[in-house]
Amino acid sequence: MSRTRLTGKIVVPGSPSYRKDRQNLNLSIQKYPCIIVFCQNRCDVKNALKWAREHRTPFRVRSGRHSYENFSLVNRGLIIDVSEMKDIVYDPEQQMAYIQAGAELGTVYQQLWDNRVTIPAGTSHNVGLSGLALGGGIGMLTRAYGLTCDSIEEIEIVVPCEKHGAKVICASHTKHRELFWACRGGGGGNFGIVTAFKFRVYPVGNVSIFSITWNWEDFHASYNSWQNWAPFTDSRLTSQIELFASGTITASGEFTGSPKELEKLITPLLKTGTPLTVMIKSIPYIEAVNFFNSPAGNLAAPFKRSGSFIYEALPDKAIETMKQFLENAPNQQTTIWQQALGGAVMEFNPEETAFFHRKAIIAQEYNTSWTCKYQKQENICWVEGIRYALKPYTKGDYVNWPDRAIKKWPCAYYGSNYKRLRKVKTEYDPYNVFCFSQSIRPYPPNGHYWLL
Ligand SMILES: Cc1cc2nc3c(=O)[nH]c(=O)nc-3n(C[C@H](O)[C@H](O)[C@H](O)COP(=O)(O)OP(=O)(O)OC[C@H]3O[C@@H](n4cnc5c(N)ncnc54)[C@H](O)[C@@H]3O)c2cc1C
Repeated sequence: MSRTRLTGKIVVPGSPSYRKDRQNLNLSIQKYPCIIVFCQNRCDVKNALKWAREHRTPFRVRSGRHSYENFSLVNRGLIIDVSEMKDIVYDPEQQMAYIQAGAELGTVYQQLWDNRVTIPAGTSHNVGLSGLALGGGIGMLTRAYGLTCDSIEEIEIVVPCEKHGAKVICASHTKHRELFWACRGGGGGNFGIVTAFKFRVYPVGNVSIFSITWNWEDFHASYNSWQNWAPFTDSRLTSQIELFASGTITASGEFTGSPKELEKLITPLLKTGTPLTVMIKSIPYIEAVNFFNSPAGNLAAPFKRSGSFIYEALPDKAIETMKQFLENAPNQQTTIWQQALGGAVMEFNPEETAFFHRKAIIAQEYNTSWTCKYQKQENICWVEGIRYALKPYTKGDYVNWPDRAIKKWPCAYYGSNYKRLRKVKTEYDPYNVFCFSQSIRPYPPNGHYWLL
């Protein structure tokens, strides 16, 4: 008989907010959970996991709702939502921040900025810190300070135990070390429910930013110039390039040094083709955060996204393939977006954390969105088409840009780290209670495969 009661704010079909509360950012995949519990503290989280196990109810963990494939939703199951747990406490003596799992990036940046510190994280304000950090975390300070997961010092996480139990543990460099390793790049929803993080923070004041735009005639030249420069330049500079089906190319970036130095560093770009616009300036860090936030990207819409990593500069043939695909895109909102890696990302080797693609020079994403149902298939085909066409020149995919169409996803996301991730899974979740279509699988007990 069940002993555990669900605690926290509970929403069920028929509740006035059910429709809003069940939806994620990607409207193209709709799911209908039977209960959503908005946890208020770690005790609610523990109760939710116990309850789901006692009732043998499928469940998913949710924070910022930005999963591309809506892996944080489930039909006829329980959503354990931590988004109302979002306290942030800064410790100036230790230079650490204690951040609860439900915090969104925008709030994290703002509250840390009030103390003139930050963590390296992603660009969109509404992305959940949890999903982002557990999969890696790429953003405009990545080459300077590393991935988001590289700054984690401790993770508080609720994991399954005993028959129907749940317990809170802390994983760090000294405690539950293998789990700590796995939670830095292994992706969300695999091992337990993170309730809080302890992050090392970095002092920040003014930063310099730049943006350069070209038109379509400069496609080859501008892209080539950027890809041969961005991953190799001064590691205090992180830059991105966006290739828009609407016919422009924009390279932009953030530098922790002066605008004068930045101007020198971007000379190879300034000398390429005929830039339409050029902007270089020094601004308070929080304004840079707002500059790189894309409000449109935070609006719920049907979309399809996928990605890959680039390990060596793309040859002309591949650049032409990108151009052709964009010229034949399903709509003007379609883009290819790339961010330079290298710098601090490469200071770790691929086995040091679960984030495998340390040696890639660029992470790239293929993005489409649409407004009418009948456009869905065309957009999905475009994304899968370009992923396939660029496969000879790229490797894998970032676990935070998951794509159901990738059949060999363990290798694509985790490379040779997958075996170790399975060992961690077997230790912490042997019954595979944290399970979705692309979740890490435990090893079978005694060499026998079993279901659960
Ligand atoms: C508009 C947009 C912009 C983005 N920008 C960036 C970017 O700049 N940099 C970057 O690296 N990525 C970026 N991403 C990708 C983003 O990192 C992933 O989508 C990430 O998984 C989102 O996390 P979430 O908490 O918002 O999403 P959710 O959908 O809530 O969760 C995502 C995954 O994490 C799991 N999860 C969530 N919370 C927890 C928890 N507390 N404990 C355990 N598992 C949990 C879920 O079960 C799910 O599998 C972006 C995505 C979008 C849609």
